[in-house]
Amino acid sequence: MKKWTMALLIAAVTVISANTAYAAGWVLGQGGWWFATKNDGSAWLADGWYWLDGNGDNLAECYYLDENGYLLTDTVTPDGCTVNGDGAWTEKGQTRVRYAWDVPSYFEEEPEEEEPAGRVIDPDKPMVALTFDDGPYAKVGNQIMDCLAKYGGKATFFVVGDRCASYQTEMKRMAEEGHEIATHTYEHKYLDKLNAAQIREQIDKGVEAIVKYTGVEPTLARLPGGRKNDTVLANVAYPMIQWNIDTRDWETKNTEKTVRAVLDYVKDGDIVLMHEFYTSTGNAVEQIVPELVARGYQLVTVSEMAQARGVQLQAGQLYYSFRP
Ligand SMILES: [Zn+2]
Repeated sequence: MKKWTMALLIAAVTVISANTAYAAGWVLGQGGWWFATKNDGSAWLADGWYWLDGNGDNLAECYYLDENGYLLTDTVTPDGCTVNGDGAWTEKGQTRVRYAWDVPSYFEEEPEEEEPAGRVIDPDKPMVALTFDDGPYAKVGNQIMDCLAKYGGKATFFVVGDRCASYQTEMKRMAEEGHEIATHTYEHKYLDKLNAAQIREQIDKGVEAIVKYTGVEPTLARLPGGRKNDTVLANVAYPMIQWNIDTRDWETKNTEKTVRAVLDYVKDGDIVLMHEFYTSTGNAVEQIVPELVARGYQLVTVSEMAQARGVQLQAGQLYYSFRP
């Protein structure tokens, strides 16, 4: 390495040091020159011969770096070759060179900061919100989530508060996999049979259970049986999500009928009601999901669909679908 180049390199390293501790390439340390292969200086070349450009002329010379990574200069290397004062291998007084672009790169790729891909929902493409009530219930819930994971879909689970403690693992999975968790009250009592205070208690305790076991603050409610009166509408401080496709899966407990109830009627913007309670429903989902995806539907949560359709969900309001 030529003396003037050393000076330039020191200057360059100094400039870089102002921002980062190291930059990949030659670094002048206390024990001499060494060659960093990572920008943070956490990896370097050592213990052998390397083709490296020592003076920025696009020609690489052959240098010997000792077991600690320091450049040997003006000496005989352990394998009996002579290196000159710049550290380059010389033979009969000649420095061997190769074009730098023929030399494999020793730099280790810094892993690129991966932007979380997020969830891209195209508002101009058809979408459906599959919703599942009355869970959590791991046996069926996991079957549904396994299927959705395979096809990249998300669902909305309206869970009953007093069931949550028994299915904490399942609930964490719902949250981690990006499904929407919303309240279906604390004890699944018909709210139109209750007074204002009781209605609020059912909603509040249902919400608390979700927060307690998932850390997620739900933003939607579903009324047990869809039942409502003026007192209910006045006391549920959440958007109330009804449905426009009722599979009646709880009544038929029949996979084929549940599948047909969805696939024969589904349109863009629909909210489908199913129950996370029956194996027949879990089995139906395994047929419904791939077919909806094949038809070009995006399987989204209720909140995602409202947002994609530009609907600001309001507390105390009922929603049945987001058909365009
Ligand atoms: Zn229910």
